[in-house]
Amino acid sequence: MDVLKIDNDYYFEIITNVEKYKDVASNINGIKIKDIKKKQHFLLIIDFKALQEKSYKKMLKHLMRVKKLAKLHHIEIGDDKKCIGYLVNYDKENHLHNNLIYGINAILYKKRRDRYNYVYDKTCEELDSCFYGKNVCDFKDNQCGEKRGTTSHIGCCRRSRFFFFGKWIPCKYLGKDYKCEAKCMACKLFTCDYLEKKGIKFRIKDMLLLNTFFNPIQKVVLKCMLYTPKERIMRTLVLL
Ligand code: SF4
Ligand code: SF4
Repeated sequence: MDVLKIDNDYYFEIITNVEKYKDVASNINGIKIKDIKKKQHFLLIIDFKALQEKSYKKMLKHLMRVKKLAKLHHIEIGDDKKCIGYLVNYDKENHLHNNLIYGINAILYKKRRDRYNYVYDKTCEELDSCFYGKNVCDFKDNQCGEKRGTTSHIGCCRRSRFFFFGKWIPCKYLGKDYKCEAKCMACKLFTCDYLEKKGIKFRIKDMLLLNTFFNPIQKVVLKCMLYTPKERIMRTLVLL
């Protein structure tokens, strides 16, 4: 039996035929509390061929509500062995499939803070994978593409003491190895004109986890709190 382990000790079984699971598990698409109550288990069937990417956000939000109701009715989340459901037509290399699994994983966290932490870290991993080891910014002789021909040798990791006025100095979170020590989401989401001309731009509305689990005010925080360590951003997010 192939399994996909996720956090909180849960796992999915990877199956090829849904028929024999229909009596114990509910289809994620259109899942209803009535059905869960009848089966007395919060167990999912996810057939990726039957799902459309544009409905992922709506589906996750609905699933979150159903999970809350299941808890209110003292219905067990997963089965006795902590199997949380069954995956059909799952491709482990498919970024969209994995994103939906990450979203379900986030829902299974009991505390809001833990969920935010997971969503934040997963998104950072995704954004880092777009940059690390790829020289997307075309650094050459310590100068990135945007700053080519200027005297700047630290890309965009610099700030002015007085907003946009005064002397520009390196950001205090820029490590000696030129890696960010702050895990700042707003900085990771930032793309300059140079990158945008190359077709690279990150919008929260295109990022399933951020778009699903944060409200509009939290999204502004995630986009605008530049030069800020993750811990401070997290403290702000849980207040909103
Ligand atoms: S994002 Fe733009 S300004 Fe920042 S390092 Fe990359 S190319 Fe340079
Ligand atoms: S916080 Fe932002 S500006 Fe500072 S080092 Fe990290 S990415 Fe660069």
